[in-house]
Amino acid sequence: VIDLDALRHNLARARAAAPYSRVMAAVKANAYGHGLLRVAAALRDADALAVARVGEGVQLRDAGSRLRIVVLEGCFDEQELAEATGRELDLVVHQPDQLRLLQRVRPAPAPRCWLKVDSGMHRLGFDLESAVDAYRALAEAAPGAQRPGLITHLANADDLADPYTRHQLACFLPLAQRLGAAVSISNSAGLLGWAEAHGDWVRPGLMLYGASPFVGRR
Ligand SMILES: *Cc1c(COP(=O)(O)O)cnc(C)c1O
Repeated sequence: VIDLDALRHNLARARAAAPYSRVMAAVKANAYGHGLLRVAAALRDADALAVARVGEGVQLRDAGSRLRIVVLEGCFDEQELAEATGRELDLVVHQPDQLRLLQRVRPAPAPRCWLKVDSGMHRLGFDLESAVDAYRALAEAAPGAQRPGLITHLANADDLADPYTRHQLACFLPLAQRLGAAVSISNSAGLLGWAEAHGDWVRPGLMLYGASPFVGRR
């Protein structure tokens, strides 16, 4: 059961907590099990929606969503790339194969892209050493009015006492500044707990659905 008014209220709370950032609302995994299309309709005031896979973005677009839709896992083959570009989905590029796919296909018009950087989560993304070259290659492979954004993920933002978050920011923010790229860092925990991690775009998920992102708190 989900109260759509509460969902909208929580989106407003996310905005209020990060007033200088745009909000990319996470609706991946069938909107955390609550129903992708009805949740997306309720969150139409978001600046973008974030899904994991191209198929979810296709579903949203084909149901009439006109918001920006960011595919967090990006594309894995030419067919997905065609489906994504045909529906103007934003793509996250987190590994060399995905960069090569864009370089080979060179879709026109180019999709809006984000480069995922591993600032310490050690799950997905280009490491800090290769990120500058990868960013330049991506900007070249997907030229457009908007330069690619930079995305990273905080490993331990849900523990407000853990110094690792500041360490990740100290690694990531100078890179973003050097590249002059828009940045997106924070999930719900980063948004609510770490103002210095708000960046240009926040990516709340859990908090929209009424769950606390923090360890040991409700
Ligand atoms: C799921 C997800 C989010 C949202 O995280 P919450 O902890 O649910 O707020 C943000 N960014 C990425 C990349 C995600 O996969």
